[in-house]
Amino acid sequence: MKKTCIFQDTEKTENTTDLLEVAERIYGQGQFESHAVLLADSFDPLMGSFHHIIRVAKGLVDCYDPQGICDILENLHKKNRFDSILIPGTSLGEMIAPRLAKRLQTGLVAGVTDIKRAGDHTEIIRPAFSGKILEGVLHTGNGPVMMSIRPNAFEYKPGDPLQTVVSAYTEPVSSPSAVTRLHVKENRQTCDIRDSEVLIAGGGGVKESFSELYRLADALKGTVAASRKLVDQGIAPRSIQVGQSGKTVSPKLYMALGIHGSMQHMAGLRHIASLISINTAVNAPICSLSDIVVHGDAREFIDRLMKKIALYRS
Ligand SMILES: Cc1cc2nc3c(=O)[nH]c(=O)nc-3n(C[C@H](O)[C@H](O)[C@H](O)COP(=O)(O)OP(=O)(O)OC[C@H]3O[C@@H](n4cnc5c(N)ncnc54)[C@H](O)[C@@H]3O)c2cc1C
Repeated sequence: MKKTCIFQDTEKTENTTDLLEVAERIYGQGQFESHAVLLADSFDPLMGSFHHIIRVAKGLVDCYDPQGICDILENLHKKNRFDSILIPGTSLGEMIAPRLAKRLQTGLVAGVTDIKRAGDHTEIIRPAFSGKILEGVLHTGNGPVMMSIRPNAFEYKPGDPLQTVVSAYTEPVSSPSAVTRLHVKENRQTCDIRDSEVLIAGGGGVKESFSELYRLADALKGTVAASRKLVDQGIAPRSIQVGQSGKTVSPKLYMALGIHGSMQHMAGLRHIASLISINTAVNAPICSLSDIVVHGDAREFIDRLMKKIALYRS
């Protein structure tokens, strides 16, 4: 029986189960033993889906300390000899995966979006060259197969519930944390953009008025999202980035304010029912893919739409 180790999706614990779909595609249904490694207190959503849940004891490691987490995963691998190690492609996951692969002296396929069987081999698919091509990687070596998996790329459909064995990991980590907490910044938004039916997304065209998007999102019972441009400039948090190196979203309404529509941004949009873009350049690529295009300044659009909403509700 093959053994797969799945590290927790620290942004949304429930999504950890989606990585079971990756293991099923590699080994086939019922042909592997699954081990989930969790830092979170709550493991209820995972009960019945995994054979083993290994809970890291509270206080042992901080959830932003990749070095300490690698210590734990390396130790668990030494004991269990996993055939595959699957890490969610969250911002923490992308820090852990290459460090762990180096320690285990195995290869890493990063940002995996699909798995195919090719004869006796597993073909691991990932976007390459900024998403311009899809690369197929064959695993033929002896070491564990290591991958970081792009969020939302796989969806696991649970079968019959399993008898889950829960155990605690208590061994102290050997390396002191390389990360120091300087200050804690309040997170304005607790809702995951992947769960929202209405996304109000801002890009380079609203960098000076990004906070205005929260007003509009509140009025439309939606959630604010952003392009990477605003994330890289420190204007928006990484957790709300849409795109190839961010999250894949499927809302009913995606309102794109001041977003150009680069290939990497559009890669994060899947099954959008309505796409509305507001842009000063009608020839921006996103406009040709939109259901409605509003040609003009995004800030002015927000003001005018807010007035209309207020009028409609009065
Ligand atoms: C490997 C790799 C991965 C990447 N991953 C991602 C990703 O996950 N997500 C992502 O978004 N990007 C990603 N990028 C970056 C991507 O290539 C683009 O640089 C980025 O998406 C541009 O963001 P933008 O459209 O918001 O900004 P810009 O390119 O600056 O576009 C701004 C748009 O706003 C319009 N505008 C300007 N002023 C106004 C105004 N007042 N009102 C209305 N409209 C206005 C402009 O006409 C323009 O169309 C990645 C790049 C690489 C190389």
